[in-house]
Amino acid sequence: TLRVTEFISANDLASLMDVSVNDVISTCLSLGMFVSINQRLDAEAITVITDEFGYAVQFTSAEEELEVEEEQGNDVNLQHRAPIVTIMGHVDHGKTSLLDYIRNTKVTASEAGGITQHIGAYDVTTKSGNKIAFLDTPGHEAFTAMRARGAKLTDIAIIVVAADDDVMPQTREAINHAQVAGVPIVIAINKIDKPSANPDKIREALSKNNILVEEWGGKYQSQEISAKTGKGIDDLLEKVLLEAEILNLKANPDKNASGSVIEASLDKGRGYVATIMVQTGTLKVGDIVLAGAHYGRVKAMFDDTGKKVNEAGPSTPVVLLGLDGAPQAGEKVTVMETDREARELAGKRSQLLREQSIRTKKHITLDEIGRRL
Ligand code: GDP
Ligand code: MG
Repeated sequence: TLRVTEFISANDLASLMDVSVNDVISTCLSLGMFVSINQRLDAEAITVITDEFGYAVQFTSAEEELEVEEEQGNDVNLQHRAPIVTIMGHVDHGKTSLLDYIRNTKVTASEAGGITQHIGAYDVTTKSGNKIAFLDTPGHEAFTAMRARGAKLTDIAIIVVAADDDVMPQTREAINHAQVAGVPIVIAINKIDKPSANPDKIREALSKNNILVEEWGGKYQSQEISAKTGKGIDDLLEKVLLEAEILNLKANPDKNASGSVIEASLDKGRGYVATIMVQTGTLKVGDIVLAGAHYGRVKAMFDDTGKKVNEAGPSTPVVLLGLDGAPQAGEKVTVMETDREARELAGKRSQLLREQSIRTKKHITLDEIGRRL
């Protein structure tokens, strides 16, 4: 299988297949296609040509071409990093309540008023003194969207199932998404404070979906919890930490940061505001960052409680001011050496986005015409 970007030139396609460009051109001719060396080929042409040469083709996005290589360098200094956790599950099974409970218990009296702003990612310290970063995604759609953009952000998934309900379609979907992504699962059987709670029924339903919990001899950790009373939540977090220990998550804090966009928006007073999850390195105020098709110098950063910070290390969510636009969730964030470099790449990427949207529009128009005919 050949990994190819759409609109690759005939010449580049030839070298990818390790054949001479003349062979490609003459093969095209024999198929009735006139192709010149530097001609850019569309998906259809690429598929036909690669097929002629005995290759299956897998299209990679043109964005991948404009990717910045992560600074490798000094990876001798790998250090433990906190797990990044996503809570998933069926609607109304208690995802929001669970995250709220976890967050609220860490809001100290000194943080008057507690947390009000929604930033999409939170930094939690457990009773045992360990850190966990939580992604507050509106559900598995966001999880999938982020994965589609290549953001491998989630280390562990908590799947919430309400004990007074059942394993539901979105529970199964969440399990499936996590498994496809190769993300370990910890089951939270929620709402056990309810008189109608029947955790055994949930364990049984899970087992029918190939999720056999440890209590029943399986490999999946699970915990009965109540997001209302807080029962079992500390134990749940310890199980998440145990899973993290097995993963042996490491990152080098001593290099230029890279991470992913969690969410971004335009704030009237502050300009573009982006929540970033730092994944490796340390992000600092003053750094030049490239985020998708946008860039800028970090003017200020805030932690998840709104407190000003000067730097943020691996697995830390941070709110950043200074970008020249709002990048999309899941887009990669990279620290660049020079302003010029960042500006150029951001420019190329936004041009690419414009071209793509024009192409998509064209396709839609042709489709519509086709349907009308
Ligand atoms: P989400 O859709 O998964 O985010 O679910 P929510 O967190 O919004 O919860 C749905 C409903 O269940 C809300 O009315 C919550 O108050 C309630 N709920 C969530 N967790 C519990 C729990 O542990 N016990 C009880 N009794 N109710 C809960
Ligand atoms: Mg919710």
